[in-house]
Amino acid sequence: MGAESRDLGGLTFVDLRDRYGITQLVFNMDENAALCEQARRLGREFVIQAEGVVRERSSKNPNRATGDIEIDVRSLTVLNESKVPPFTIEEDTDGGDDLRMKYRYLDIRRASVQQNLIFRSRLALETRKYLSEQGFIEIETPFLIKSTPEGARDFVVPSRLNPGQFYALPQSPQTFKQILMVAGMDKYFQIVKCFRDEDLRADRQPEFTQIDCEMAFVHIEDILNTFEGLTKHLFKHTLGLELGDFPRMSYDDAMRLYGSDKPDLRFGMQFVEMNDFAKGSGFSVFDDAELVVGICAKGIAEKYSNKDMKDLTEWLQRPQIGAKGLVYVKYQEDGSIKSTVGKYYSDEALQQWAEKFGAQKGDVIFVLSGEAEKTRKQLNELRLELGRRLELIRPGDFKPLWVLDFPLLEWDEEAGRFFAMHHPFTSPKKADIPRMMSGDHETMKSLRADAYDLVINGAEIGGGSIRIHDKELQSKNFDLLGFTKEEAEAQFGFLLGAFEYGAPPHGGIAFGFDRLCAVMNGQSSIRDFIAFPKNNQGRDMMIDAPSPVHEEQLQELGLEVKAGK
Ligand code: ASP
Repeated sequence: MGAESRDLGGLTFVDLRDRYGITQLVFNMDENAALCEQARRLGREFVIQAEGVVRERSSKNPNRATGDIEIDVRSLTVLNESKVPPFTIEEDTDGGDDLRMKYRYLDIRRASVQQNLIFRSRLALETRKYLSEQGFIEIETPFLIKSTPEGARDFVVPSRLNPGQFYALPQSPQTFKQILMVAGMDKYFQIVKCFRDEDLRADRQPEFTQIDCEMAFVHIEDILNTFEGLTKHLFKHTLGLELGDFPRMSYDDAMRLYGSDKPDLRFGMQFVEMNDFAKGSGFSVFDDAELVVGICAKGIAEKYSNKDMKDLTEWLQRPQIGAKGLVYVKYQEDGSIKSTVGKYYSDEALQQWAEKFGAQKGDVIFVLSGEAEKTRKQLNELRLELGRRLELIRPGDFKPLWVLDFPLLEWDEEAGRFFAMHHPFTSPKKADIPRMMSGDHETMKSLRADAYDLVINGAEIGGGSIRIHDKELQSKNFDLLGFTKEEAEAQFGFLLGAFEYGAPPHGGIAFGFDRLCAVMNGQSSIRDFIAFPKNNQGRDMMIDAPSPVHEEQLQELGLEVKAGK
């Protein structure tokens, strides 16, 4: 399919496209004028059948797999005509996102989208191969489950047979996979759809796919090794890349050194905390700050003009980032030092800064200050932006990292309560259990969890934890999360009940499958790896969903019909 003709002297050429590539068809006016006329009437995206002789091309196209050959056509049948498509079906299409989604069947005809879907299929196949070889069993869990208040918002489904009651679509199979561990299926996995009613971004979809896993009788080390093994296997068998052993970093170190729990390790620029040597010189911006912290960019002192600095400062001051200002120190090639804080710091003092940062001639130190958490976040944004602007990231480079020892609980000032940093089933570290059972409010903030994330190139690929398998500890956790005994029983009674029948120690992890596809292909949007994605308003543009339903349907479901609707 995909025929369109070009005429050149007595010859007519047609590009014929199918899943396997583009083949050039040739029609010769002198040999068969009627056939040639027929070819000239072909339009874009017509579906045709052609017979002829395959021969070597005189002018080859090295950019195409099939560019060495052409077909000298002897007969041609039009199987179906096509309207002119609303955008060009080529690598660089002129179609906007919504248009491409509306005509997704045309968009998928583009080789790059096809390649993405083929990649996804191979990745799923390799996942199944690896995990089954490791003894995992693929088990399906239900999609119509119970709504829970924790985590993101649920999509709910009204029940006709139980008027006024609702199912929820699973945000993940979390409780079911834990129940499977109690049920003795000690190595479970599933490549599974999950549903979360969240605000959308390029890397988020309301329905997405996870590689979801759980194992019984394991320690953290068993899980990390198994899933590091899976990741290495996937890279090797789809991209042909050997990844070395993955480094590990604690959550605290990740925040201190990169201001992020998913640091991009494809380039350096670790944070250097400066409270010890930058405070106390009369510069009130620093003196009054909880944290003064900086990064060093190599070799840009001469390259970065005052205008570049102004641009960067304005970029940081945008409301999305919200930095008050940017302090910088340029160590010029000629040995001189230019800075925005020369009034408060002598050249000797600034030379000392250079030593702390390992800065040399030609380098620039950028410094932010303020409330610690906020400042770290802002400096993380600056670091990533400099990575992009200075092109520090090599295409095809992959830097995986395990981030470990996340806090168990997060205090939400506004809501006045704790939230689980991972989810309510995550176990505190063994050493922290006594403090959790008897500690005060402040103690709870310092509890660490047996939780881990896999990060690749600054994207969170997966996360998991060792779970609580003890009823008392689980009840305590629900209590800390603000559930009354009755609420916990109503929501999670089945799990607490299961824990009374010999629950083994267990833990697991889930990988974001769509994101893994995108990251492995160096892309940031997961949409192009999903056959039928939704747009930013959560709409399926092709089938036009969501949509109203008939009044009778609502009545049947026992749902109130609002007047005027
Ligand atoms: N269910 C968790 C999630 O969706 C993953 C896990 O803890 O295994 O993030």
